[in-house]
Amino acid sequence: MPLATHNAQAFHFLVDMLETVEIGLVILDLDFNIQLWNGFMENHSGLTSTAVREKNIFTLFPELPQEWLKQKIDTVVTLNTRAFTSWELRPYLFRFSNSRPITGTAPYMYQNVTISPMAEPNGRIERVCLMVYDVSDEACSRLELEQANQKLNQLNKIDNLTQLLNRGAWEETLHQEFDRFQRYGNDCTLMMLDIDNFKIVNDQYGHQTGDKVIRHLADAMRACLRHTDHLGRYGGEEFAVILPETNLDAAHLIAERLRLTIADAELHSINSRLQYTISIGIAPLHAQTEDAQQWVRQADDALYGAKHAGRNQVVCSLS
Ligand code: GH3
Ligand code: MG
Ligand code: MG
Repeated sequence: MPLATHNAQAFHFLVDMLETVEIGLVILDLDFNIQLWNGFMENHSGLTSTAVREKNIFTLFPELPQEWLKQKIDTVVTLNTRAFTSWELRPYLFRFSNSRPITGTAPYMYQNVTISPMAEPNGRIERVCLMVYDVSDEACSRLELEQANQKLNQLNKIDNLTQLLNRGAWEETLHQEFDRFQRYGNDCTLMMLDIDNFKIVNDQYGHQTGDKVIRHLADAMRACLRHTDHLGRYGGEEFAVILPETNLDAAHLIAERLRLTIADAELHSINSRLQYTISIGIAPLHAQTEDAQQWVRQADDALYGAKHAGRNQVVCSLS
């Protein structure tokens, strides 16, 4: 085959490939008029290359980030160097719909974009080429992974048996509330509660019924307390609640109501019915409270006081 024919054929193949390649190719002059628009861009924008030729890209796509793109192109031309932007910084340049929609993720095509300078034979840069890569698969799997991690993180904070905050997560909240008190000084009261003679419940009715009692208490707490209160399972049959915006008197009323609800409740198992009680210690935060640990100690001491005084009662911290 003569060289000229060979070259012509190679050129033809090359053009054909650029038309069909799964990358968007756009050539712009320095007035942002479109010089080239390949098949990928036609397919995803719905605009043919004849329709966009010599048209200003910002007129055709007013949603493009004009200032940002102009500045990028200016840098590319001035420094004669490539510029790159990733979907993590800017999810897309052209708002094309995602051809592989995945539930829960954005409906548009995520894009990485490279902007390349195009030199004339005399070396001057009078055009730039935008290369638009569809990275929806990578972006969606990354976002799904992040969502799964977030969910896992959430699950790590929840106690399995009661669905209340576990001790670690609850303590985190305790420190946040302590810090908030130091900044704003709003009322906040802590409540520690413990099931009375729980060993006897386990011994008499078995561990599974013991678990049922623990779940019953958690449900009663959810029902008696506000959704802004922070409920945690502190240990086996010991629970802790932070009551924001609540002074000692109000907390005492809430604790009494919960105590009575539990004392009045009856749990039914196969051939027996069961009643149980709880003891509660409460401690308000005040300016003298040194740290979160001391606050917990005060509520715990009050709880110990309630046990010592005969159980099934609420005791307020003296300090
Ligand atoms: P007190 O009134 O002084 O609190 O008496 P108590 O019997 O409740 O005392 P203690 O705190 O010593 O006993 C708690 C028991 O709770 C011991 C432990 O076996 C049991 N326990 C801890 N976690 C669980 C649990 O998840 N399920 C069940 N069924 N029992 C548990
Ligand atoms: Mg107990
Ligand atoms: Mg206990």
